[in-house]
Amino acid sequence: MYDIIIIGAGIAGLTSAIYASRANKKVLILEKQNYGGRIISAPHVKNYPGFLDISGVDLATNLYVQATSLGAELVFEDAVSIQNGINKKVITDKHEYECRAIIIATGLERRSLNIPGEKELVGKGISYCASCDGNFYKDKVVAVVGGGKSAIEDAEYLSNLASKVYLISRKDLEDKVEKDNIEVITNYSVDKINSSDTIESIDITNSSDTKNIKIDGLFISIGFDSSNEEFDSIIEVDDKGYIIADNTHTNLDGIFAAGDCCKKDLRQLVTAASDGAIAATEAIKYIEKNR
Ligand SMILES: Cc1cc2nc3c(=O)[nH]c(=O)nc-3n(C[C@H](O)[C@H](O)[C@H](O)COP(=O)(O)OP(=O)(O)OC[C@H]3O[C@@H](n4cnc5c(N)ncnc54)[C@H](O)[C@@H]3O)c2cc1C
Repeated sequence: MYDIIIIGAGIAGLTSAIYASRANKKVLILEKQNYGGRIISAPHVKNYPGFLDISGVDLATNLYVQATSLGAELVFEDAVSIQNGINKKVITDKHEYECRAIIIATGLERRSLNIPGEKELVGKGISYCASCDGNFYKDKVVAVVGGGKSAIEDAEYLSNLASKVYLISRKDLEDKVEKDNIEVITNYSVDKINSSDTIESIDITNSSDTKNIKIDGLFISIGFDSSNEEFDSIIEVDDKGYIIADNTHTNLDGIFAAGDCCKKDLRQLVTAASDGAIAATEAIKYIEKNR
């Protein structure tokens, strides 16, 4: 039996783990992908208080080491459902765990293109993280899909590694791009991925034209959605799927939510960390009261 189970090892979840572990609570963190959450794809973080410039990976690793060295356990499992009660249950793809309080810190989910071949080629030419996988494409030709600030940042980052970068967007770009080896193609969408074992080319189309572009890698950078489907049958969410939480309390006693998975105005590291600290403190109060 754990005191607190935290779902998600992003900044919010790891901060909760630090606060809960320092209060001597038995803490389990469940993480379905990598510790650190979304920030690991940021090469530079320049607005986290106390750090002039730190990479997302270094920040995440510091937090992971801090949480686990204080005694929090972390397992790489996907939480697929939760059950409420005096003792609560978290069911993962591998096990079932019991606890007194749950903190949901599941962040956001990367949007995918949802076209044939996309899932199968992840790691074989398709990536959602330029700073994680860009190095595999030194002197190669890559394409970035997306027109927002993140897509532009990804294209600029990759332009320092790859020989050529196509930046393909359905709309006009949100910002200017000033790198010679980036070719911007606007008002086209990616329709088809052509591959054998690895990616070979993509077909992009607009209302009157189709182009085939030969590439070695495709980076998808088209935004994020909430990631709470596993819990939204019992946890109250808004029309976009974000958890409605008041000072991190959800609609269910003893179940708290922190970070980007919540309905909020500002989704940043510092607000995720703040939620994480508050959620742990509220969970500890709940456990003490319901002993
Ligand atoms: C490229 C990029 C650059 C950014 N730069 C900055 C910046 O400079 N400054 C800044 O303040 N913010 C920045 N952000 C935003 C910042 O990363 C987020 O606000 C922050 O990561 C939110 O933390 P979180 O813990 O709420 O969620 P996340 O970081 O999304 O972490 C959630 C974690 O939960 C896990 N998870 C989800 N569902 C489950 C499940 N069912 N079971 C188990 N685990 C699960 C996920 O795998 C993930 O690891 C950036 C984001 C990106 C993508």
